[in-house]
Amino acid sequence: ETTHFGYQTIAKTEKVEKVAEVFHSVAAKYDVMNDFMSFGIHRIWKRFAIDCSGIRPGQKVLDLAGGTGDLTAKFSRVVGEQGHVVLADINDSMLKVGRAKLRDLGIEGNVEYVQANAEALPFPDNHFDLITIAFGLRNVTDKDKAIRSMYRVLKPGGRLLVLEFSKTDQPMLSKLYDFYSFNILPAMGKLVANDAESYRYLAESIRMHPDQETLKGMMEDAGFEGVEYFNMTGGIVALHRGYKF
Ligand code: SAM
Repeated sequence: ETTHFGYQTIAKTEKVEKVAEVFHSVAAKYDVMNDFMSFGIHRIWKRFAIDCSGIRPGQKVLDLAGGTGDLTAKFSRVVGEQGHVVLADINDSMLKVGRAKLRDLGIEGNVEYVQANAEALPFPDNHFDLITIAFGLRNVTDKDKAIRSMYRVLKPGGRLLVLEFSKTDQPMLSKLYDFYSFNILPAMGKLVANDAESYRYLAESIRMHPDQETLKGMMEDAGFEGVEYFNMTGGIVALHRGYKF
């Protein structure tokens, strides 16, 4: 995996540092920017994920790379007092913003905040009924390792939902989207958050992310069964779902 010069290792460390820097810098403005840049559509993508989650009262949920906690807020209400939601994120700035936001919304009691790396989850085997990772997997350095780690902590019968940017197969939409993400997005980041660089990273990480079929294969390789995906907004975003049996 590494050359004897440790080349690969250096590249990996750089990615980890870059991701940390980006999310420390966007944390305070993250929610505003999300609405602004997606024209509010991220709410519809998340709503669809929740509708596909099969979540029920009393269940244990892991909202991985949960950031400012949009999904956690919804899950917390559904699982109720008997249930439990863990919002895990590698970045303490994002966790702080998330915790403050959920407290303001009156969401307390069944939510726990954990600083954790998706590649090495600090939870017991066979623990969660549902794991979601929304717009998080593309930031993870070793995605296969992370997916295996998620598989380990899921209960048999549990399911994983991956909500992530993906590839559109419509040429016109693809051109429009490239222009938007490489030109308009950094300009908006500069204007609203005085931070073009973070939003340039965002566009690059989206372009590098595995497409629908590749991600499906990665989930199957980690042991997931019944893996399927649903395209949204012409495939700009996809929801993958898989089960551990
Ligand atoms: N899930 C939230 C949402 O949909 O609004 C937040 C998504 S945000 C774009 C991506 C999050 O992934 C950030 O909060 C970042 O800190 C987190 N993240 C990046 N790498 C991670 C890793 N290796 N393990 C856990 N979280 C990570």
